[in-house]
Amino acid sequence: MLIIFGLRVLLGTIGTGVFHCPQCGGDREYRLRRGRNWFTLFFIPVIPLNRTGGEIVECGTCHGRWTPGVLTVPTAAHLATVPATLVRLAVAQALRSGDVTHGPARDRAVAAVHRAGDPAYDGTVLDADMARPFDQVRAEMARGAGVLAPQVREDVLRAAAEVALADGPLTVSEEETLGAVGADLDLTRVQVTGVLALARQDGGR
Ligand SMILES: [Zn+2]
Repeated sequence: MLIIFGLRVLLGTIGTGVFHCPQCGGDREYRLRRGRNWFTLFFIPVIPLNRTGGEIVECGTCHGRWTPGVLTVPTAAHLATVPATLVRLAVAQALRSGDVTHGPARDRAVAAVHRAGDPAYDGTVLDADMARPFDQVRAEMARGAGVLAPQVREDVLRAAAEVALADGPLTVSEEETLGAVGADLDLTRVQVTGVLALARQDGGR
């Protein structure tokens, strides 16, 4: 009897998720896969052998394949949450540099986050945000700022300025905080000064 044997590479799935597919141009499901050599008998893989190469990311829609670096590109769904997250962090910084119990300032902070796209946000989350370590907040702001347009980043600072202005003119502490928030948002000093001037002019509304 003739025995036919050989080697074949099969891709195994080691993870799944949603990514931004460069070929589809949108959010798609992917499979993270890794190749392995198999010993085949009559073309049927029977014994798994060594792994081959690295991992690949395969789009579930167009079946395009990429290296795992493609997973660092933010998805559209994630991008949509970034403005609200940054407004949350910015208004919490502004509030904690002034009177954290000031009712109108708190209301303004909550309203700003709602407008930015997070309707579930409330005073409890605000208190939790204000209790977060500075380093953590600053790192998260810098990450988010990197994917937003300048106008959106200015709007985030504007929201924080309006919260700080709710209890009267900016104190030195509030102004310093807004300057730091602006820097974390990757805004220049000129941009920060401009945003604060506009907010003051409208009296924080
Ligand atoms: Zn695709």
